[in-house]
Amino acid sequence: MAGIYAHIPFCYTRCSYCDFYKTTDQRMKTSFIKSFCKEISQQKDFFNNNFITTLYFGGGTPSVLTIEEWKIIFEELNTSFDLSKLEELTVEVNPDDVSEQYIKGLHQLGVNRVSMGIQSFNDEHLRKMNRRHNSHQAHEAIHILKQSEINNVSIDLIYGLPYMSWDEWTQNIDWAIEADVQHISAYHLTFEKGTPYYELLKKGKLKEIPEEVSSDQFEILVKKLEAAGFENYEISNFAKPGLYSKHNSSYWTGEPYLGLGPSAHSFDGKARRWNIRSLAGYSNKIEKGDCFWEDEILSPLDIYNERIMLGLRTAKGFEYAFIDDLSNKELKRFAEEEIQKQIQLNNLEMIDGWCCVRREKKFITDRIISDLFYVIED
Ligand code: SF4
Repeated sequence: MAGIYAHIPFCYTRCSYCDFYKTTDQRMKTSFIKSFCKEISQQKDFFNNNFITTLYFGGGTPSVLTIEEWKIIFEELNTSFDLSKLEELTVEVNPDDVSEQYIKGLHQLGVNRVSMGIQSFNDEHLRKMNRRHNSHQAHEAIHILKQSEINNVSIDLIYGLPYMSWDEWTQNIDWAIEADVQHISAYHLTFEKGTPYYELLKKGKLKEIPEEVSSDQFEILVKKLEAAGFENYEISNFAKPGLYSKHNSSYWTGEPYLGLGPSAHSFDGKARRWNIRSLAGYSNKIEKGDCFWEDEILSPLDIYNERIMLGLRTAKGFEYAFIDDLSNKELKRFAEEEIQKQIQLNNLEMIDGWCCVRREKKFITDRIISDLFYVIED
């Protein structure tokens, strides 16, 4: 598997909880596309061979791009990489950008999966989050997508909202089920520094919901979606059988990936690299031929902790052979002992050489992961 994540850093408005890198200044789109195409060309040798199997456009809001702008980007991608073996091509869209014509245009360019930021079907929630769409537009967009040739749709939901009642949450889950989409991602609200919600939290105008309410909201989500035929294949991700996100799954199994665009991260199996988080800086440096990223070589310890964290968040877990192959003896002894301890506590189990969290213990996954983390005390 070789995947590309492409970050399109434009939004029309700023959602109150969001700390992804983006700008609302659409005047920079033309210069961004020019620099972005240069980056694509510069990175054509990132992988050993240049076959790409998954391509994911996130952001920001990729659907702010017009079909003409997409054509420029795809022309460069097709020149620099071999997309003939592409299995999954996802574009994130905002519901109010979805029209029959736009989706048709994306499909003609090869897009075969859409991920839509619905977040809630409740207008009051959407208003409080400063989302630019309303629930009517969300339903409309789902309807258009279901009639279209891109019939592989993922929607995002948010839970843990301080003002969301139990009934409103279960109603949101029911709407998501009724939407009859192939994939649902559900994330708990986090208060990230620099966001309007973080400021409201600091001023005491918003409060985090109690941990037990969060757990209950997650539990009912899992219960309802599993009853509706979804598989909870990663802690925040649910899919109809056979329709797991291939691109995201490759992150969780430690495959290399290339990130393009400002703030995008790349991983080549040994080092992590991140592009600068400034559109003007990114474009300037690319145009001048300067380096526009920072990187770090991951230590065996970093790789161990990351594999544990990403693996145990998935239903399949991590392949135990990875522990057998650890060359650091102390780390290997620690991992073997901790895993045995967790197996005896009935938190973990081994299935066909893979170590995973027992189904009934998935609600304490974070605690299990933190027990397995190897931390060097200062
Ligand atoms: S959540 Fe999405 S649409 Fe909203 S500001 Fe963030 S990137 Fe833009």
